[in-house]
Amino acid sequence: MTAYATDAQKSAESDDDNRQTTDIQWFTGSPQTHRVARAIAQYGPIARTTLAQLLGVSQGALSRITSDLIYEGVIEELPDDATEQGKLPQGFTPKEPREKRGRPQTNLRLRAGERTFLGVNIHGSEVSIVAVDALCRPVGPCRTLTLESTKPQDVATLIGSAIQDYRRAITPSPVAVGLSFGGHAEDDRYVTYAPFLHWDGRVDAAGAIEQTGGLPTAVFNDLDSLLQYESWFGAGIGVRRFAVVTIGAGVGYSLAEDGMPVDYPDKSYGLAGHILVDPEGPRCYAGHTGCSQCLTNDSLAEEYSALVGHMVTFDQFAADAQEGTAQARQLLNRLCFRLGVLVSMVANFAMPSKVLISGESSFLAKMNQESIRSGINWYRPSQAATVDFEILDFSWESWAKAAAARAIARYIG
Ligand SMILES: [Zn+2]
Repeated sequence: MTAYATDAQKSAESDDDNRQTTDIQWFTGSPQTHRVARAIAQYGPIARTTLAQLLGVSQGALSRITSDLIYEGVIEELPDDATEQGKLPQGFTPKEPREKRGRPQTNLRLRAGERTFLGVNIHGSEVSIVAVDALCRPVGPCRTLTLESTKPQDVATLIGSAIQDYRRAITPSPVAVGLSFGGHAEDDRYVTYAPFLHWDGRVDAAGAIEQTGGLPTAVFNDLDSLLQYESWFGAGIGVRRFAVVTIGAGVGYSLAEDGMPVDYPDKSYGLAGHILVDPEGPRCYAGHTGCSQCLTNDSLAEEYSALVGHMVTFDQFAADAQEGTAQARQLLNRLCFRLGVLVSMVANFAMPSKVLISGESSFLAKMNQESIRSGINWYRPSQAATVDFEILDFSWESWAKAAAARAIARYIG
């Protein structure tokens, strides 16, 4: 064990109360029971026979587990006449027909309304907060607060007081908080890298928010949270391997496999931030020509300023692109083509079944999907399958929801 890990352990031990609160789960059961609950959350409503086949457990064992989960109030049976069904994993075919003539299969689903969670996303100098049920569906409007200061204690005070408000207002009262930000978190608790917040060293962000908000809190990287949300509740349900590429203030990339973000210690450090996407593109601050930094808002503002001959902001470029002025369209086409090149690299190297595009400027990508496709095809062998990409509807609410998804995943276990 490294000295660093020992330090982490010591600090965790010195904070026993907080550790206990963070480890709260919906129920106590064997790893197999948690696995069943997880599968029902992801793929429900789902029939017992399908679930048994999917998880490779016997019908008898599965029945015992689902009875326990029904007794604990975690899952419930749908009425016999309910036809609602979840999405099954990619490539999975149920052995028996999902509905038998004369003997309808009773589907199981999570009792989503029994619990609520709070999702918090920090972005720039703003914090978005949303309350969701156990299937990550909002139970109220998203709130956005402005950070007067980005000092850890001030951030914790602001978020903590908002959590207190939600605890009074939401029924049932929230059981856990998931917080996401652009940077690196360890043990779902300590922030060790937060370039946008300018925090130094190792900050026990979860501990500080638990103290002010009074609820078990876990802290995550924002892209990991998004992957978790899409795997369990969104566009990645049942997809074996998928990637997310984000554009906005920075360029992000992450990969999920079998419903979980791929674990890699350096992945929060912007690994896809300086990949060559256009040999004739603009020069980045690090001196590269045409690297993926040209997809960022600042770089687009600079490139657009050069095109129109005077200084303009990113927002002005976006407005002109929406209006369809010739120069803005020209840059929009370039942006989408370059984004396509990045997507093709992700597709060629990581071999995902699907690439999702998100981020605060992904609305621009929606305006010219044809150029994205051209960019992908430029670097994709013609024999290879067409890259399946999807541009998600972006909002800070969806990122706050994603933070809650990770809290839900921990709570279900
Ligand atoms: Zn660069």
